[in-house]
Amino acid sequence: MENKKFYITTPIYYPSAEFHIGHCYTTIIADALARYKRLSGYDVFFQTGTDEHGQKIEKIATEKGLTPKEYVDPIIENAKDLWNKLGISYDYFIRTTDEDHCARVQKIFKMMYDKGDIYKGEYKGLYCTPCESFWTESQLDENGKCPDCHRDVHEVSEEAYFFKLSKYQDKLVKFYEDNPKFIQPESRKNEMLNNFIKPGLEDLCVSRTSFKWGIPVTFDEKHVIYVWIDALSNYITSLGYPDNLDDKFKKYWPADIHLVGKEIVRFHTIIWPCMLMSLGIDLPKQVFGHGWLIVDGGKISKSLGNYKDPRDYINSYGVDAVRYYALREVPFGNDGNFSEDLLIARTNADLVNTLGNLVNRTLAMSKKYFSSVVENPKVYESIDDNLISYAKMLPSLVDNKVNSLKVNEALEDIFELLKRSNKYIDDTTPWVLAKDESKTDRLKTVLYNLLESIRISTILLRAFIPGTTERIFNMLNTKKIEFTDLDFGTLEEGITLNESEILFNRIETK
Ligand SMILES: [Zn+2]
Repeated sequence: MENKKFYITTPIYYPSAEFHIGHCYTTIIADALARYKRLSGYDVFFQTGTDEHGQKIEKIATEKGLTPKEYVDPIIENAKDLWNKLGISYDYFIRTTDEDHCARVQKIFKMMYDKGDIYKGEYKGLYCTPCESFWTESQLDENGKCPDCHRDVHEVSEEAYFFKLSKYQDKLVKFYEDNPKFIQPESRKNEMLNNFIKPGLEDLCVSRTSFKWGIPVTFDEKHVIYVWIDALSNYITSLGYPDNLDDKFKKYWPADIHLVGKEIVRFHTIIWPCMLMSLGIDLPKQVFGHGWLIVDGGKISKSLGNYKDPRDYINSYGVDAVRYYALREVPFGNDGNFSEDLLIARTNADLVNTLGNLVNRTLAMSKKYFSSVVENPKVYESIDDNLISYAKMLPSLVDNKVNSLKVNEALEDIFELLKRSNKYIDDTTPWVLAKDESKTDRLKTVLYNLLESIRISTILLRAFIPGTTERIFNMLNTKKIEFTDLDFGTLEEGITLNESEILFNRIETK
């Protein structure tokens, strides 16, 4: 029997500035998957957090006359407030400045050193003296100068510790072969193999002496641990590793999905697995590198400043309009476009016209014809088949799509049932049936079929737009809201529906 647990992570975000809609996108998908798995009966651990060390934050803080911690603390409070407003149901928020994380990272570093996988060497880099920053060739501006101040850089070297990435190259290739689903989408696997692994992995610089804002190396205190071992370890230090292996670590590791943006797939599918091999523990089951949310055709960028505070969208359109848009608009593994106009169009078309309209029409007819009492005399006609057969098939359709991370397609499938239901109203013409007393039982059946389609769709939408689905269940006055209640015909007979209310207001555009 497979252990019914599910451990999902977002990347830990770098709080050098306030979070934007791109951070929201990754976190909303992770939340939807976490909620879906909880509803499916899994014991879920959903983790997000922040990666707070490093030269960049040290520098910004110094410029503002703050300590790095003083600089990041309000950004993190603000991020938590944003996650709260977006309904992000994380189980744990890790900060790499947490004391227990720092102590565990120091132990991990020492374990890898003792094993002979970390050694002292010399780091050569391009250095900008006024900025006190190292750069790689590819980070320089178009004139080969410092990307920050555009002054000359010069080559310097400093003592540094290195991790023997090269030692694990063959084992890593073998792991990819044995675990074909490890990297999703598939295309990213070939990119990793051809661009990075086959040319040969170089050992990785894992400490620095040129800045101070990091976790000190315990046995050589002028060094701080440079990004990789500090940041990537968050996925296991939060579970207690290496101090306590019997509790959360035993229960949740290995991670089922690391959800990451495509720009950091490399770190999660090359560096992270090699670190874990060095520690001798299991590798995560899957790394999913999703595309970016592009704002009005361009990448979201702090320096371009082409984004609003995501709370502005929530305040204007409602949290579920934002969640739905983010989940619906971005195709599996590709980039999606974020634009306020598209958000409005999507909200009006799907949430107002299709979902809201169906619920309100159905409840209004039930009230008008039967005082909102639900009955099913089972007077079926062949026109019902198309609706009912699709509704019966839908749960497994959605389950397959969600489990292969095709969330946008899962939503498309659910909305297909809602669209068919609207069409079913037009085809069965309940207002005509209502005029003929001999058709009363048929009319009850038609309304029951519609309510069932709404109820089933709503159960399947719970992970995606949780606030809205709760309101619909309230209107339906049903207790059959779990994944175990997805069979068509489960809606209780004899219940009385509650007053219908407007789920989404049409957004007027100029
Ligand atoms: Zn500079």
